[in-house]
Amino acid sequence: MTKYIFVTGGVVSSIGKGITTASLGRLLRNRGYTVAPVKLDPYINVDAGTMNPYQHGEVFVTEDGAETDLDLGHYERFMDVSCSFGSSVTTGKVYQSVIAAERRGDYLGGTVQVIPHVTNEIKRRIVTLAKEQEADVVIAEIGGTVGDIESLPFLEAIRQMQIDAGKENTLFVHVTLVPTVGPWAEVKTKPTQHSVYKLREIGIAPDVLICRSDVDLPEDVREKISLFCGVRPEAVIESRSVPTIYEVPVAYERLGLGELVCQKLGLEPTRNDFASWEALVDTLKNPEHECTIAVVGKYTSNGDAYKSISEALVHAGIPHKAKVNVKWIESDTLETGKDIRSVLGAVDGLVVAPGFGLRGIEGKIEAVRYARESGLPFLGICLGLQIAVIEFARNVCGLTGANSEEMEDSPAYPVIHLLPEQRGVTEKGASMRLGSYPCNLVNGTLGAKLYESTKITERHRHRYEVNNDFREKLQEHGLVISGVSPDYRLVEMIEMPGHPYFVGTQAHPEFKSRPNRPHPLFAGLVGAALKRIEAKASVA
Ligand code: GLN
Repeated sequence: MTKYIFVTGGVVSSIGKGITTASLGRLLRNRGYTVAPVKLDPYINVDAGTMNPYQHGEVFVTEDGAETDLDLGHYERFMDVSCSFGSSVTTGKVYQSVIAAERRGDYLGGTVQVIPHVTNEIKRRIVTLAKEQEADVVIAEIGGTVGDIESLPFLEAIRQMQIDAGKENTLFVHVTLVPTVGPWAEVKTKPTQHSVYKLREIGIAPDVLICRSDVDLPEDVREKISLFCGVRPEAVIESRSVPTIYEVPVAYERLGLGELVCQKLGLEPTRNDFASWEALVDTLKNPEHECTIAVVGKYTSNGDAYKSISEALVHAGIPHKAKVNVKWIESDTLETGKDIRSVLGAVDGLVVAPGFGLRGIEGKIEAVRYARESGLPFLGICLGLQIAVIEFARNVCGLTGANSEEMEDSPAYPVIHLLPEQRGVTEKGASMRLGSYPCNLVNGTLGAKLYESTKITERHRHRYEVNNDFREKLQEHGLVISGVSPDYRLVEMIEMPGHPYFVGTQAHPEFKSRPNRPHPLFAGLVGAALKRIEAKASVA
């Protein structure tokens, strides 16, 4: 019998529901349970693929090619699971199914309504995921804040789930804010009370309250929250900010959340393997080395736009016992004509981030040129690989005017062009080359060495590729194509022998990095950055 945990949020948005959901999953995974996370998002977009990263943060891509909310990235990283299409349910997807069913005539004669048709479709998707993933526990995070109009059908659906699956098999966790106000930093419980009233108004009584707070909650405050919100005092869990998000499960475990959840759901775990997670948190908190990696992108003012990349860099520090600082660089600031050394001279490595469209491209090209010429360790991701090819074509192969067809209609040398299967595609939603694809790495290359294998798979999200007409020219001048699709049609990875670390990948390795399994391409970059620091120190 699958157990269901529903995580809602109150008072303010961005309260950390995603990290709480992910952490809860970690506590259950430590106890040996199979956990299927799912994000229920009230927005009407069918998926996150068409949303601007400025507004919505990164688009996270799953193995099977779903373009989803960045919270799924947290789930994968904390729980070490693989999400799928079914792990993301949006209002758009739900209505698309209901309306298609209505057009087919599935409800013939009936009036199609939010209750029961829309709510049934939401429940069907949750239960299907449980079955597909043979989950002991489904953890569903409901996007938005309780009180939002658009999340009502989702809240009604999870209320009904308590009846369908049984009270003993469902648990409601509400994440809320307990602010302090005034000169004496008085702890205020009223916003929490109100958000719990809102939940109860629609028939949901929370079992656990996670109270985000800047201070330790005094006992009398916990008792007050307990009394007014109808939640037992031991289920009022305080949640203070911690130095690394990966410490949140450790904090929750210490506060007894794992045990409490298991007790309430009638789970009787036979083990609780927490040591390895605690060890990695310990390494993160006590680094012996430090380096700074510049990430050049076009959405750097929103830290969430490159979430998986910044997390992959954190993970990459773990095997090296190193703290990795990120220096965010907005690509068009590199186009002002100022000396690039003043921006990149002090960093120890460079990532050129994925992206779309023309803005900032020339700045990225300048950054790659600097890395290539100065021996600065470099990792180019997706657009980053394409930029590296354009730079190499222009400045090494002498193909003046080389460019991507994405940036210019008929470039003098279209070294990056549209994938053949993309010709004629006009729809923007879910129409890129998406999800996991195999790649063969060439024996003896840095790529094969880093992956310790010649057969790999990585996730993709792109429309353009390296133009095969220029492969020979690029290779003649020293660029090594280290990874290709099994049919040799697509360039998947490039590198530059003689350079300390110069790797480009058409894929998105950041999506597969986990704190307990840092990604080899990121770990390699950080390793090279640390070596560079060491070499500089020995010269000085
Ligand atoms: N815009 C490029 C393409 O579509 C790169 C995409 C990306 O970086 N994800 O091929």
